[in-house]
Amino acid sequence: MTADLRDLYQELILDHSRNPRNHRAPEASNRRADGYNPLCGDKITVYLRIERQVVVDAGFEGTGCAISTASASMMTESLKGKTLAEAEALFGKFHDLLTGKPENQGSPPDLGKLAVFGGVREFPIRVKCATLAWHTVRAALDQKPEPVTTE
Ligand code: ZN
Repeated sequence: MTADLRDLYQELILDHSRNPRNHRAPEASNRRADGYNPLCGDKITVYLRIERQVVVDAGFEGTGCAISTASASMMTESLKGKTLAEAEALFGKFHDLLTGKPENQGSPPDLGKLAVFGGVREFPIRVKCATLAWHTVRAALDQKPEPVTTE
């Protein structure tokens, strides 16, 4: 990672952890799921409003470390306006960015600013913090009744 990207990474994550976007339960949400990362103690509830296969609103509540909060904040921003298929594709790309094989790493061009989470790979214990919100949103999309845990 270049020094510029490292600065951007820290700046964006700090900004989103201090001022999380969509940190609320949207009115009329029709999907929700809870997630828990026992390794760090991050807890999150993700809310979605889906209309005609499109995520029209997304929000979250919960408590967690800076990485998990920033990830949830940036995730909810990224998901708004996406179709369910696009949301699923974005989950796959984000997951590959953090956990993929070395040959698949690097910055996928269409992740936008979510690519800053590539820096989290250098801290394996934080990978679950960064992916918690995504696993939780996937459970919300699949309408799984049981809470998600990263274990
Ligand atoms: Zn955490």
